[in-house]
Amino acid sequence: MANKKYIFVVGGVMSGVGKGVATASIGKILQAKGFRITAVKIDPYVNVDAGTMNPTEHGEVFVLDDGWECDQDLGNYERFLDKNFTQANCLTTGRVYLSVINKERALSYGGKCVEVVPHIPLQIIEDIDAAAKKDKAEIVLVEIGGTVGEYQNILFLEAIRFLKLKHPKDVVTILVSYLPLRNNDNELKTKPTQYAVRTLNSTGIQPDMVLARASVPLDQKRKQKIALNCNLEVEDVISAPDVRDVYEMPLILEKAGISKRILSKLGLKSRKKDLKEWSALVGRIKRLKKTVRIGIVGKYFGTGSFILSDSYLSVIESIKHAAYEAGYKPQIDWVDAGNQGSLSKYHGVVVPGGFGGRDIEGKIKAIRYAREKKIPFLGLCYGMQLATVEFARNVAGLRGANSTEIDKKTKYPVIDVMPEQLEKLQGAKYGGTMRLGAYPALLKEGAIARKAYGTKKISERHRHRYEVNPEYIERLEEKGLVFSGKSPDGVLMEIAELPKSKHPFFLGTQFHPELKSRPLSPHPLFREFIKAALAKKGR
Ligand code: GLN
Repeated sequence: MANKKYIFVVGGVMSGVGKGVATASIGKILQAKGFRITAVKIDPYVNVDAGTMNPTEHGEVFVLDDGWECDQDLGNYERFLDKNFTQANCLTTGRVYLSVINKERALSYGGKCVEVVPHIPLQIIEDIDAAAKKDKAEIVLVEIGGTVGEYQNILFLEAIRFLKLKHPKDVVTILVSYLPLRNNDNELKTKPTQYAVRTLNSTGIQPDMVLARASVPLDQKRKQKIALNCNLEVEDVISAPDVRDVYEMPLILEKAGISKRILSKLGLKSRKKDLKEWSALVGRIKRLKKTVRIGIVGKYFGTGSFILSDSYLSVIESIKHAAYEAGYKPQIDWVDAGNQGSLSKYHGVVVPGGFGGRDIEGKIKAIRYAREKKIPFLGLCYGMQLATVEFARNVAGLRGANSTEIDKKTKYPVIDVMPEQLEKLQGAKYGGTMRLGAYPALLKEGAIARKAYGTKKISERHRHRYEVNPEYIERLEEKGLVFSGKSPDGVLMEIAELPKSKHPFFLGTQFHPELKSRPLSPHPLFREFIKAALAKKGR
């Protein structure tokens, strides 16, 4: 078998310019060319995983089947490549150091002095190779978070240097940079990119390509300027302008000739050419005219005076997938749970996951409105728990019902922490200890969920500590709430819904369906929710 190939994607100039989407897009193109691809996301922070971070700090926390809590880019990789990844596909500084320290304690370095260089970069390479082996990949894409020039990613760049030194023909490094456009002279500026390449050069790495993000396409002159100043051939400067929809990116990059350049550098030949399904999807998206209006009632929007929709990235993507399939463009509005105004203008309302007590009453108010005014409602995790609280209070007559996450002394703790979780909370063991990852559930015959999935047994990803309190199930069911999905032992309530006779679509999931929706296969529950929203639009 030929040598394994590595493509490193690093950032220059600034973060947040779509490095994850670029990496996922390159992966998609090479996958379509017939190569077995895997992807690894490196986050230079010391946290072992993303689980303890507030979403406004670092965007959505994505969860994999094996329960690993990771960066939202894994969501991009899964959605673009239509594959499920595991913790082997995620690295952080904290994880790498932990492995090295554990090995040292186990005498695995045979009494040597264990040093930052070379042992940390060697561990990084070992971990990347392990991911490639697990996924039987011929090409492994490695995205390094942050931008070159930050102290904290220097050891990851050192790993690239080591690998390139040993396998010069098997490593390609792509710098994703950004070209600002100044309004007054209307010219894309290349200088920050030149500086970024020099900074990368100072770590001993010459990028093989520059992927130039900008609000508009690069002209030939700008490409030549970057090529000349950054030691590149002009064909290796790839223009990646803003796109209306991220799913367009693979087509833009391929049109710019990216895979031909990458494959020739790696000494590989394209095996087939088939981005057909993907192109058809993008074509469909571009032709959409009609809209469906969805309100997301949340609280992780604000950071200073900016709105951060990254906190709910997978929810947005899932809504898009289902709406696109139905032939509609979603118009998504952020509804601040603390200050919501009227929800009557929405065709559907989503209350997504969350933690803690802030703005909870606002969310409950929104759920009540959606239930009483018969607006299609989808509750995700916390959204399902709060829908249960709302139902308990306003339909089942349990006044003051609550989740013990919000009110420990509530008279009616309809949502409560399970005993094994309580132990963890009391021991301040917060990291990686929630109910995490894929769990099976059984669906009730005749229910909306059962019809949507078309199957009795499902597997969905979780991330929560609290559950519907088993002591209240009977009372809630008597009053008309249907627990249509349960854990196979019948103890845990995984889906709550109202029957069609009572409401066009009122459904909440204890799990996170948004983590499994893919552009070419929307999640069944989002599909059903959008269908109901469209029916409301037509009503
Ligand atoms: N805070 C809730 C819990 O821990 C819900 C979590 C979530 O929405 N992901 O159970």
